[in-house]
Amino acid sequence: MILARIWIHVFLLAFVAGFSGSNAKAANSRFLEIIHIDVGQGDATLVISPSGKTMLIDGGQNGQGKKIVVPLLEKLGIRHLDYVIASHYDSDHIGGLDEVLKSLTMPPGKILDPGSVGPLPVRPLKTEKGNDTRYADYIHAAGLPEKRNAAQTGHGVIDLGPEIVVSIVAANGCVSGAGENQYRPRLDENGASIALIINYGTFDYFIGGDLTGGGRSGKKNNRKYGDACCRQGGPRR
Ligand SMILES: [Zn+2]
Repeated sequence: MILARIWIHVFLLAFVAGFSGSNAKAANSRFLEIIHIDVGQGDATLVISPSGKTMLIDGGQNGQGKKIVVPLLEKLGIRHLDYVIASHYDSDHIGGLDEVLKSLTMPPGKILDPGSVGPLPVRPLKTEKGNDTRYADYIHAAGLPEKRNAAQTGHGVIDLGPEIVVSIVAANGCVSGAGENQYRPRLDENGASIALIINYGTFDYFIGGDLTGGGRSGKKNNRKYGDACCRQGGPRR
């Protein structure tokens, strides 16, 4: 029997008090744990596989990494993240990610993001007032460009252990199964989001940052985005 559970961290501290040494606990667990961390606007999601592999997707807004995500990792006894993913570069997804990266005693196994080149204009490193942007904060914390990995659609890039299949179904405007560059002319930051499907037996889980249908956020989205991602996920077994 396959077990999967998704926790919603509404009452964060009260909830994690029930855990003890989750890395060791998860390593012997048959559960795939997916923790939606309550960071307010934006997103931060922690995945712990049955073999104890860890993956953090996004870090919420600026300040939420230090205030919410880092304490959660500490409570769970997680000192190393196997994967850190910046789904896209909007501040409510990467704002707190640099705080998490700086807090880690060991560098993450792999950092995945939409990359620095592609169909969108180069993201600014400075605001008009000359301050670092959230993007710059993330870039500096994530390290030099060669330490980061621009996500590409496909299987096998993310290894969360036996029986878990992680597919990158969209990244930087490319949607697996929908034809490369199909939506790039109308791409915006949300449409560049990395989207994953995590499969564990009969359980499929989709997470896609702020992925829109058709590239640009708004009412004229194209449903083919969703269809393509569903096809990649495949029929439930
Ligand atoms: Zn966004």
